[in-house]
Amino acid sequence: MKPAATIEAVRAWIASARRVVALTGAGISTDSGIPDFRGPNGVWTRNPAAERLSDIRHYTADPEVRKASWRARLEHPAWNATPNAGHVALAALERRGTLRALITQNIDGLHLRAGNSPERVIEVHGNLHQAVCLACSWKGPMQAVLERVRAGNEDPDCESCGGILKSETISFGQALVPAVIERAMQAAQEADLLLAVGTSLRVFPVANAVPIARAAGARIVIMNAEPTQFDEIADAVLNGSISAELPQVCGTA
Ligand code: NAD
Repeated sequence: MKPAATIEAVRAWIASARRVVALTGAGISTDSGIPDFRGPNGVWTRNPAAERLSDIRHYTADPEVRKASWRARLEHPAWNATPNAGHVALAALERRGTLRALITQNIDGLHLRAGNSPERVIEVHGNLHQAVCLACSWKGPMQAVLERVRAGNEDPDCESCGGILKSETISFGQALVPAVIERAMQAAQEADLLLAVGTSLRVFPVANAVPIARAAGARIVIMNAEPTQFDEIADAVLNGSISAELPQVCGTA
C-alpha cells in the first residue's frame, strides 16, 4: 500500500514543476452536475444497458439506439453545466505558465469554458457541442440538430447526404483521431509532472499517458475517489473531492 502523500507535498511539487500535464476524466465534472460512467453514481453503474448508446456498432445498426441517443443528448446536463472549482484551478495553472497541456477525455467543453485555451486543451474523445455526419463528414453546431429533434424528428439525418448524424465524440468501437492522440502522448512524454484527475484510467490508449510520463521520468499524481490500476506507479494518490482538493494542490484555494 502506497503511503498517503499530503496535499502540501503535492502542492510543493506542482509549484516547482515547469511542465505540468493534466489528464482529466469524467470525475472532474461530477461536481458540475454531469455524472461519470463508472463511479458509484455513474450512468453505467446505475443503468448498465446505457453502455449500448456509447457503442458505434449499436448506434449505426439500430435506429432505436439512435433515437435513445438523441433523447439523451437533448437532456444532457452539459447544456446547463458551469465549470466548478476544479476546472477553474486548472485554468489558473495555465495562466501561471506551468500547464503545458490538458489532455481530457471529457466531451463537455467545460475546460474551455473555465478559461483554458484551445492550444493547451487536447480533447481526445471529441466534443458534444459539434455534430458530424458519419457518411460525408459534414460538421455543424449540435444545437441546430437538436432543434430538429425538438421539432419532432427522432433520428435526424444529414441534410447534405442523408447519412447518419451523431455528436463529434469518439464512441466505443470508433477510431481515435491519430494526430490528436499522438499530440496527447507527446505531451505526456515531455511532462515533468503528470496530474491524472477524475479518471478511472480504464480507457485506452489515453490511460497510457500515465506509464509514458512515468517512463520519461515525470512525477505522477493521481486524484480520484476510487483506486486505479496505476496507483502503484504514482508518487502520490489523493482520494478526496476533486473540486475541494484540486484548488489546494494548484495553489489557487
Ligand atoms: P469514469 O467514469 O470511468 O471514471 C471517473 C472516476 O472519477 C471514477 O473512478 C470516480 O470514482 C471518480 N470521481 C467522480 N467524481 C469524483 C469527485 N468529485 N472527486 C473525486 N473523484 C471522483 O470516467 P473516465 O475515466 O473519464 O472514462 C469515461 C469515458 O466517459 C471517457 O472517455 C469520457 O469521454 C466519457 N464521459 C465524459 C463525461 C464528461 O464529458 N463530463 C461524462 C461521462 C463520461
